[in-house]
Amino acid sequence: MVAIRPTLAAPKTALERLPEEWADVLVSWGEPKFRGIQVFRWIHQRGVFDPAQMTDLPKSLRERLAKEDLALPMEVALFHRSSDGTRKMLLRLTDGKEVESVLIPQGHVGDLAAVPDDEDADVEEPRARTPISQCISTQVGCAMGCVFCASGVAGLKRHMNAGEIVSQVLLGRARSDEHERVRNVVFMGMGEPLHNYDAVARALVLLTHPEGLALSTRRVTLSTSGLVPQIDRLGQDFGGQVQLAVSLHAVDNEKRSALMPINRKHPIEELMEALRRYPLPKRRRITIEYTLIAGKNDELRDADTLSKLLRGIPVKVNLIPMNPVDGSPLAAPDYSGVDAFQERLRSHGVAAFVRRTRGDDIAAACGQLALHGEKRRLRVDYSAGGGGS
Ligand code: SAH
Ligand code: SF4
Repeated sequence: MVAIRPTLAAPKTALERLPEEWADVLVSWGEPKFRGIQVFRWIHQRGVFDPAQMTDLPKSLRERLAKEDLALPMEVALFHRSSDGTRKMLLRLTDGKEVESVLIPQGHVGDLAAVPDDEDADVEEPRARTPISQCISTQVGCAMGCVFCASGVAGLKRHMNAGEIVSQVLLGRARSDEHERVRNVVFMGMGEPLHNYDAVARALVLLTHPEGLALSTRRVTLSTSGLVPQIDRLGQDFGGQVQLAVSLHAVDNEKRSALMPINRKHPIEELMEALRRYPLPKRRRITIEYTLIAGKNDELRDADTLSKLLRGIPVKVNLIPMNPVDGSPLAAPDYSGVDAFQERLRSHGVAAFVRRTRGDDIAAACGQLALHGEKRRLRVDYSAGGGGS
C-alpha cells in the first residue's frame, strides 16, 4: 500500500520531527542529510531519547543533539495493572496536567480496536507475542461537553501536541510486557481528536511511519463525536486509510443534542452524509459507537431507527453500556436491556457487538481515571440537565 502523506503544519517540538525535517535541521548544522533518518530511527523505532546512546552518530553531533529537547514530555504518574491484564497509565505532562492511556490485551472484552482477531491471519508474527491495543488521549479534557463523559465534564484544558500524543505509544511500548507488542492504537482517550486536527494528523503520520513505530494505518482507529468538516479532511488527507469510529449515541436530533452538544452544529443527517462520503477502502467498515444509557437512547425502536439510519453504509456497531461517572445520575441499562438492543439490531442485519467493561476495575474504558484527579477540583452539576454545555 502506498503511504498517503498529508500536508502537515510545521513541527512544534523536536520529538515530532519527521526524518526529512530532521535532515533539514541537521544539514543546517553542517551534517550530511542521511543522518536525519538515523536520528528519527533512534527515537521512534528504538525509543532512545538520550543522544549519548545514539552510538552510530559522531560524538560532535551527539553533543549538539543534547541541546535539543528530546526527553519524553511526560512521566508515568500512576501505573495501575488490573487483574484482567488491562493497564491504565496516568501520565503527567511537563506542565503538570494529566491525561491517561490504557493498554488492553487484544481479545479482551474492553478492546475497542476496529480490527478483530479473526482479521489478523495475514499478519506475520515472528514470535508469538500478545497484541496490545493502546488507547491514547489527544487533549487535556475536552471542549465537546458530552453529558455522559468525564472528559466532557472536565472541559478543555489544552490541546496536546503531536510529540505528546505519540509519546504515549512510545511509553506504552516501553511499559508493556516483554511478550507483548502494541499493535493497535485507538484515539479514544481524553479529548476530541478532530478538534486538534493538526497535531493528530502529524501523530498519525509519525505512528505509521515505516522507519518509526510502523503501525499499519488500518490498525489505527480514530474516534470522533462527529466534526463533519474534519471527517472530510481526514478522509482526503489519509485516503480513508485511517479506521474511523463515530460516536453516535442517539438516533434523533433532539436526543442526540441533549447528550452531545456538537449535534446542534452537525446534526445526524449531516453526519451520515459525511460517513457516506468517507473514502472507505474495500472490505473495511466504519465503527459506530453507541453508548447505551438507560431511559435516554435504549428503546428498541431506537435500534430500529438506528438500523434505518445506517442502511447502505458499511458499518459495525459497538454498543457500550455506559460506565458510571461520579456525580451523574446516568447509568447503563441492565444486561437484558443491552442484549435486547443488540438482538434487535442483529435482526435488522446490522453487525452489532457489545463492549462490556468491568466498572469496578480499571478497564472501565478511557475517560475515567483522570477524572479522579479532576473531581477534587470540580463541582459537577448535572441538575441543569439537557444539553450539558
Ligand atoms: N472524543 C472522541 C473520542 C474519545 S471518547 C469521541 O467522543 O468519540 C471514546 C468513546 O467513549 C466515545 O464513543 C465516547 O462517547 C465514549 N464514552 C465517553 N464516556 C463514556 C462513558 N461514561 N461510558 C461509556 N462510554 C463513554
Ligand atoms: Fe469529548 Fe468524546 Fe467525551 Fe464527548 S465523548 S466529551 S467528544 S471525549
